[in-house]
Amino acid sequence: MAHDEGDAGIPTPLGDDAARRVAARVAAMDEAAAAARVAELVPELLRHNYLYHVLGTPEIDDRSYDLLYRELELIEERFPSLRRPDSPTRKVGGEPVDFLPPFEHRVPMLSLANAFSADDLRDFEERRDDSGRLRGGIRKLLLDAGAIGEDDVITYVVEPKLDGLAIELVYEHGLFVAAGTRGDGRVGEDVTHTVRTLRNVPPRLFTDAPPPRLTVRGEVLFELEGFLEMNRRREEAGEKPYENPRNTAAGTIRQLDPGPASRRPLLFIAHSAGEGLVLPTHAALLDRLRALGFQTNEYELCAGIEEVIAAIARLGERRHDLPYEIDGAVVKVNDTALQEVLGFVTRSPRWAIAYKYPPDRVSTPLESVVFSVGRTGVVTPVAQLVPVRVGGVTVRNATLHNEHQMSREMRLFPSAQGEPLRGADGEEIKTGLRHGDVVVLQRAGDVIPQILGVLDRPERQGARPWVYPEDCPVCGHRLDREENPKEPEKVTIRCPNRLGCRAQLQASLKHFAGRRAMDIEGLGDKLIAQLVERGLVTRPSDLYHLDVATLAPLERMGEKSAANLVAAIDRSRRRPLERCLFALGIPQVGEATARDLAAAFGSLDAILAADEAALLAVDGIGPDVARRILEFTSDPRNLEEIARLRAAGVVFPDVEKPAQDDAAKVLDGKTFVLTGTLPSMTRDEAAARIVAAGGKVVKSVSRRTDYVVAGDKAGSKLAKAQELGVTILDEDGLLALLQGTRDES
Ligand SMILES: [Zn+2]
Repeated sequence: MAHDEGDAGIPTPLGDDAARRVAARVAAMDEAAAAARVAELVPELLRHNYLYHVLGTPEIDDRSYDLLYRELELIEERFPSLRRPDSPTRKVGGEPVDFLPPFEHRVPMLSLANAFSADDLRDFEERRDDSGRLRGGIRKLLLDAGAIGEDDVITYVVEPKLDGLAIELVYEHGLFVAAGTRGDGRVGEDVTHTVRTLRNVPPRLFTDAPPPRLTVRGEVLFELEGFLEMNRRREEAGEKPYENPRNTAAGTIRQLDPGPASRRPLLFIAHSAGEGLVLPTHAALLDRLRALGFQTNEYELCAGIEEVIAAIARLGERRHDLPYEIDGAVVKVNDTALQEVLGFVTRSPRWAIAYKYPPDRVSTPLESVVFSVGRTGVVTPVAQLVPVRVGGVTVRNATLHNEHQMSREMRLFPSAQGEPLRGADGEEIKTGLRHGDVVVLQRAGDVIPQILGVLDRPERQGARPWVYPEDCPVCGHRLDREENPKEPEKVTIRCPNRLGCRAQLQASLKHFAGRRAMDIEGLGDKLIAQLVERGLVTRPSDLYHLDVATLAPLERMGEKSAANLVAAIDRSRRRPLERCLFALGIPQVGEATARDLAAAFGSLDAILAADEAALLAVDGIGPDVARRILEFTSDPRNLEEIARLRAAGVVFPDVEKPAQDDAAKVLDGKTFVLTGTLPSMTRDEAAARIVAAGGKVVKSVSRRTDYVVAGDKAGSKLAKAQELGVTILDEDGLLALLQGTRDES
């Protein structure tokens, strides 16, 4: 379905007859007719969402769904007062929030005790001493309490254990009103703005008699297929792929901007209720949650712990066929009355336990080791493998991190499933990687698998070890070894040829143009490779001399793309200082350090002039980072490149320091609203500069608003400003105000 492809809820533009008829019908509606139609459309669309996302049994095709959705959207555009709180159009990301307020759980969110083996599970049910007497486990507690008889079998529910972010949703009188993370179990963070956009979080419960307050617990996670697809797109765009679906889901939900959450393939899967829903069994609770509109897990009812163990083994065999990652199984006593008898111990319920699957291990032959040269010249060995599936993904290569790991640190295994071999004193036997080796791979949580070691095979005798080359595999320059006296295993092997080395030049250009650096849209990997191959760009500053005539003839370019790229390059000339610093690619200077440097020194020249003492005085900069910065700023090649960038029009703007005197607070007391996309700064940056100059940034436009700063794709706020006669500025207007050069009327 079109409303299911990453950009959840955003319909494709519909330009044909059916769409025109919908538009005409809406245009002809008066408010009463529109209200009546909304009352039909909202429940209808919510029902189709439920059928599609929760039950997987859609009744209509994408196209029909999109037309209904579009009709609702058009009505809401014409009559904004008809936009209901449960409208599915609200799933499109809204305004960013300023921070994540605390979110209190009225009923604490607990964690579960863990089991790692079948015996742990058996002990959970009952522990007996040598003479067979019952000593512990939940059976003993229930017997002692008189809740079960000697012959009773305890019934359990086994569900997949989801590897996601624990979330609580709050419904008041049937309407979704809030969502919070688990946090410490009592207080988490309010993430209503992002969770609201998830396509399978129902805005309204499917019931005519909702409880006054219902809290539903579950996990937010990525659909694995969508996650891998998102990574493919990121790599194509020259961005770093995400390593791990769980952390990425958590990061997306905890963002201030709901946009990414609304576009990414995130799911909420319900597994329990906090308040407002008590049923005789856990299975009935899951069924009820599903009937109320929530996606729930499949589950299996098991009589006794041996059935549980068998069910967990069956689930384990097909865990990689599930559309999302699971890391185990959750076992719960089904009967709610028995749960109450068992109660809680410290922070965990006694009536549930989480079984964790061991990480997946496989073995596969090593084809070769290639030495890859990174942006800073560090040479890393990468193992090329005969493709193999592990943990649900196909693996073709895996990094070996460094020389030490490759030449000394491989553990020897008797088989892919076994534990490493041990010597007489119990120590693990280690070896270096040799030609013809078969490696043991493990994948646990991360998408990128780890090479644990090699199989102990007789063929290893006399096989050649893999060693680092002496010369750079890309440019042929002699490689440097940097020993670290404190940690001898951390030898860094580096090609010192810098931009003269094509691998480093390409990686540097990619970093320079990256979204968080100079943000040059359209300058992707393939284009960079062409520019470098043809000698058109030999250093980042050369980008600023490219013109349409040079670019247009390149593969997959043409006049229009070339003109767009030249415009994007031009826009990047005015990036804030911290982004320019990050773009320069100073070793060890990431985004956070770049921000600290910019804030502390205020200008590029001050940073270039800073000595060690001045650098160490900056919070967060230690001796190692300071040394790297000084190496960079004392290298004439870097200074020459900075001069070239400046000559090409890159501004490296000074940071406006928070004014100490009133005279500098040019925006004192003025109220601003920001809307749309500004050409050269993000809304956060614009807001920071307004606040630094004494102004205030608020969310909605009113008569008290002094200025609305409108960028590209500004929406209803711009219309409201026009209606109220509020002064509207573009980015240049804002910059002029900040510099005090605009006449304040
Ligand atoms: Zn090189």
